[in-house]
Amino acid sequence: MAGEKGRGGKSGTRRRPGLTGDRTDDRPVYVIGGGPGGLAVAAALRGRGVRAVILERSDAVGDSWRRHYDRLRLHTTRRLSALPGLAMPRSFGRWVSRDDMVRYLEKYAEFHELEIVTGVEVTRIETAGADWLLHATGGRRMTGRAVVVATGYNHTPRLPDWPGGDAYTGELLHAAEYRSPAPYRDRDVLVVGVGNTGAEIAVDLTEGGAARVRLAVRTPPHIVRRSTAGWPAQRSAVLVRRLPTRLVDGVSRIQARLLLPDLSAHGLPRPRKGLYSRVREGAIPVQDAGLIDAVRRGRVEPVAALESFDADTAVLADGSRITPDTVIAATGYRRALEGMIGHLGVLDARGRPVVHGGRTPKQAPGLYFTGFTNPISGTLRELGRDAHRIAKALARG
Ligand SMILES: Cc1cc2nc3c(=O)[nH]c(=O)nc-3n(C[C@H](O)[C@H](O)[C@H](O)COP(=O)(O)OP(=O)(O)OC[C@H]3O[C@@H](n4cnc5c(N)ncnc54)[C@H](O)[C@@H]3O)c2cc1C
Repeated sequence: MAGEKGRGGKSGTRRRPGLTGDRTDDRPVYVIGGGPGGLAVAAALRGRGVRAVILERSDAVGDSWRRHYDRLRLHTTRRLSALPGLAMPRSFGRWVSRDDMVRYLEKYAEFHELEIVTGVEVTRIETAGADWLLHATGGRRMTGRAVVVATGYNHTPRLPDWPGGDAYTGELLHAAEYRSPAPYRDRDVLVVGVGNTGAEIAVDLTEGGAARVRLAVRTPPHIVRRSTAGWPAQRSAVLVRRLPTRLVDGVSRIQARLLLPDLSAHGLPRPRKGLYSRVREGAIPVQDAGLIDAVRRGRVEPVAALESFDADTAVLADGSRITPDTVIAATGYRRALEGMIGHLGVLDARGRPVVHGGRTPKQAPGLYFTGFTNPISGTLRELGRDAHRIAKALARG
């Protein structure tokens, strides 16, 4: 059943005085997804007098944050992670916890009196003359003058199709299912993938009493300190965004040699390709939340990439065969937009929207996207900036 009021959407269908009778009132802008991206766009639209209705499939805003692992803290600073129009309280500290992030998103929806309908999953979007027709669960149909897709970069867990995976007799789960190290106490765990999530889960497991933690690495990552002498890595990332890739690669290489220990002897060599070149390929650096120390102490053991399974055995790219109790695949997510908008010709070969922010595709005017990039400067920061761009474009239209 669709709920008029979600947790954190306490304002439910409340309207801002003055909006009734607005030219967009009966044909609102529909925002699909009540995560930070959707909330920021809806608030920006409201700020410009455009009625926006958020459709959220779960029963509350910030659903993805409610399901993240317990230990998670933002790796971007509190100040650079706040959405437009509401600062995060100082009491959250510099590195905001998962629970505080959820509290903030609830407060954000309430503060901006956002119109949120929960329990509605949009399944398909079609053009209908100058308008957009949305199909949703329960046979619902809604017509809006524009649609903003904010369903998340990390939409559907991606589990590689490893040969032998179906017959693997050990425990295999995606990082999206991981909450805390408690179930893995005294167990032998292989974490696959060394992005921020894999690195953090590996450290969490060692601190939580796992007997052995190995980390399967295909491409050695760039690791950066969250902050150096009080200066957060995110601020540098914001500053270097417009600089040439080769320059940033060179400077970050020198910086890494000066500031970070060489972990080659522990199985984690320095990456060959430059930091910014990797960012351009979609691989943002790993923020050190204890990985360097854990690798140096031998508590997290880097091993070769996982290639296949053979009964209870994980076979690695260097030919070694290991038998962990549990394999946790920190192997990323898919956008999974094909079913909803694949027929509109607005996705590239990797399934990502061809435009984002204030731009709308020529073949689908009135369709906007937010949150489908992976910027080095921090997604939350970029979501806020894109929200303004989208609201500006829609207020003009
Ligand atoms: C573990 C982790 C840590 C992160 N840490 C940081 C950080 O420190 N700093 C930072 O800047 N970024 C961080 N990010 C990246 C990014 O900021 C978050 O993923 C953020 O939640 C993205 O917001 P979003 O609104 O785009 O997507 P989401 O938060 O994923 O929200 C999408 C919403 O859409 C809903 N939805 C999906 N499909 C439909 C549908 N068909 N119909 C209706 N509703 C739908 C979902 O239920 C969800 O509520 C992190 C990401 C992850 C995975």
